[in-house]
Amino acid sequence: MSRRKQIYEGKAKILYEGPEPGTLVQYFKDDATAFNNQKKGTVTGKGVINNRISEYIMTQLNEIGVPTHFIRRLNMREQLIKEVEIVPLEVVVRNVAAGSLSTRLGIPEGTQLPRSIVEFFYKADELNDPMVTEEHITAFGWATPQDIDDIMALALRVNDFLVGLFLGVGIRLVDFKMEFGRLWQNDEMRIVLADEISPDSCRLWDVRTNEKLDKDRFRRDLGGTAEAYQEVARRLGILPEGGPRDMKGPETMQ
Ligand code: UDP
Repeated sequence: MSRRKQIYEGKAKILYEGPEPGTLVQYFKDDATAFNNQKKGTVTGKGVINNRISEYIMTQLNEIGVPTHFIRRLNMREQLIKEVEIVPLEVVVRNVAAGSLSTRLGIPEGTQLPRSIVEFFYKADELNDPMVTEEHITAFGWATPQDIDDIMALALRVNDFLVGLFLGVGIRLVDFKMEFGRLWQNDEMRIVLADEISPDSCRLWDVRTNEKLDKDRFRRDLGGTAEAYQEVARRLGILPEGGPRDMKGPETMQ
C-alpha cells in the first residue's frame, strides 16, 4: 500500500518515515491487544477515533504549554509527529483505584485515591512491563533525575488538564498511561509528551453510571468497545452525530 519506509510497528500503531527529517507519520490501526498480547482482536474504526481523540487532546495540551510530539493530523488514520527518542517507561497517573493497583494493593476498584499517584513501568514486553522506582530508572540509566522531575511535572499537569476536560463531559478519568520522549532542538534537549492519549490508554468511566468507556470493554469482554470510544469522541464534540455538518462543541454535563 505504502512506499514509505516503516520505522516501527507496535500493537496499535505503525510509525513511518516522515516527509521531512525529524518527522514521522504515526498510523493508528484497529488492532487491539491486552494482557501483554495474550488477547488479540480488532475493533472496527478504533484507529480513526483514537487518531482524532489524540489529536484533540495533544492540540489542547500544546495550547496550554505542555510540549508534545504532535504536529498535525494528516488524514483519518495518520498524524504527523516529531521524531523523539522514547524514554523506555510507561508513566501511569491514577486518580481512582482500578486495574493493577487494585490487584496489587487490594484496594477496591472505584475507591477515590487521597491524591493523584504517579507510577513508572519499564517498557519491556518480554518482562510484562514491570513496575519500577526512580532508583531503578536512574541506576540503569533509562532516565536522569532531571528527566524524571520533568516527566513528573508534565504528567501531573496533563492529569489536571484531562481530569477537568473529561469531567466537563460527564466522564471520570480513573487513570491513564503516557509515554515521553527526548526532543533535540539546537543542541538542547527537552522532554515532550509522545505516543497517544486515547481510550486505549485511559480508564474512562461515566460519572453517573460508572459505565466503562475505554479499553476495559475489550479486555474484559464487555462488548460495545467501538461504540464506547465513539461515545467519548461524541461527548468531546469531535464526532459528527448525523453527518460531517453536524459538528458540535463539547457537550457540557451538569
Ligand atoms: N495502560 C496502557 N498500556 C499498558 C498498560 C496500562 O495504556 O501497557 C493503561 C491502562 O489502560 C490504564 C492505566 O494504564 O488506563 C493503568 O493500567 P494498570 O496498571 O492498571 O494495568 P492493567 O490493569 O491495564 O493491566
